[in-house]
Amino acid sequence: MALFTPLRRWQPAFRPFGRQPAGKRMLALTERVVKGPLFGCRMCGNCLLQETAFICHMACPKGLRNGPCGGVNNGWCYVDPTRRCAWDLIYERSRRMHREHKLLEVLPPVDWDRAGTETWGEVVRTARKAGLRNIFLPSGRKGKTLGSALEEHVFRPVRQPGWWKGDSEYHPPAVAEPQSALERELRSGRFVITAEVTPPLTAATARLKEKILLVKPYVTAVNFTDGSSAVPRMSSAACSAVASSLGTDPVMQISARDNNRNSLQSQAIGANAIGVHNILCLSGDSPRIGPRPRSNMNIVDIDSVQMLWILRRMRDEGIYLDGREIKNRPQLFLGAAAAPFALDAALQALRIMKKVNAGAQFLQTNLVFDPDSLDPWLEQLDKLGLLDKVFILAGISPIKTLKLARYLDDNIPGVTIPAPVMKRLADAGDRFAEESVAITVENLLKLKAKKGITGVHIMPLGWEDALPYIIQQAAD
Ligand code: SF4
Repeated sequence: MALFTPLRRWQPAFRPFGRQPAGKRMLALTERVVKGPLFGCRMCGNCLLQETAFICHMACPKGLRNGPCGGVNNGWCYVDPTRRCAWDLIYERSRRMHREHKLLEVLPPVDWDRAGTETWGEVVRTARKAGLRNIFLPSGRKGKTLGSALEEHVFRPVRQPGWWKGDSEYHPPAVAEPQSALERELRSGRFVITAEVTPPLTAATARLKEKILLVKPYVTAVNFTDGSSAVPRMSSAACSAVASSLGTDPVMQISARDNNRNSLQSQAIGANAIGVHNILCLSGDSPRIGPRPRSNMNIVDIDSVQMLWILRRMRDEGIYLDGREIKNRPQLFLGAAAAPFALDAALQALRIMKKVNAGAQFLQTNLVFDPDSLDPWLEQLDKLGLLDKVFILAGISPIKTLKLARYLDDNIPGVTIPAPVMKRLADAGDRFAEESVAITVENLLKLKAKKGITGVHIMPLGWEDALPYIIQQAAD
């Protein structure tokens, strides 16, 4: 247990690949002995303690380096429910220390060459390279404070290597033309409806095609989940290819859980080759909620913010993460998930700002059963000037059975079904389907009237047949 952070370390400390010189090994050992007990440091070799209010973010089971996932449950981690969410603690302490602005910088993934090695030596080497005079002597600093000189010449270059160059700025898309039918429709200002079709558990595509064709006349684009709930199914890429062949604009979801930085970039390039241009970046559900035996519950390579940053640069700057040039850049319209109810609205808004700055152009939210409960979150987004920078599609769902309603309410982090809605469903009896559709239509219309909501994303949860009725009734 660390002294300054109540978090245990999720994983053992990393080990360097190669044997380091004796001096470096001694320094690494000293750093491990000091930072481990104090901050719960796991020696990732890419220290971000200053940005995370001196709590090691690597205590998060998902290894997220840029903020919390959508699963935070009242401040507790859903992967390991016996302890607080690392990022909730980081946010809380950052707020106490007035360092929230530090949480906006898009931080790089681990450079695994440095994992397990010391960072202090790197700091000293960088300071020497920049010239100690330029940092420590007032005449060399040219009016800057010692703190700002250290930040500019030492800390920033150490945490933001040349292959990443993350910042806290908004980067508008560099491409003028809409990259997909979904982007075109959202830009037109019309209220947009997208839907999710669950990928099949089998290798046959007949039923998948049926479902796509069923929803196609009513929606602008169709999402395909990527191993949702950590359950293996047909891949999102394969389903997206099927949808594309049927003339439907697919939204391919990619989860960090099952990918690393290499597969992400390969998938993005491949997606374009099969006519897929909408990509939704997610950290992904933990295998904790998936079937047993469970796979590795750590996500160690990239997070959703880093995915957006990498893909945006592939499209706008025409480079891979390693700097290689891409002659024919991928056409991408980038999306991210939003969990408006997972944490305090102001902190969630910061998280969204970071995603938008990194490259998110549209958001699809968790399920919303009480449209008015979105208001505090929308107000915060508005305050940060985000409503003009990102399209927001609120997630809604018709519930097929009362059992499913209770399951979602009790088990899915960030999803709450208000008591009056639950009562209407419970009292409906034989009219359950009718009542459930009526509730969904009411919610859709309420959401449509909200400032900042540019569309809805319908997740039928296996009840695709209900979708045409919902959309037709909402249009009447
Ligand atoms: S996995 Fe999610 S809930 Fe758990 S510590 Fe990490 S961000 Fe928090």
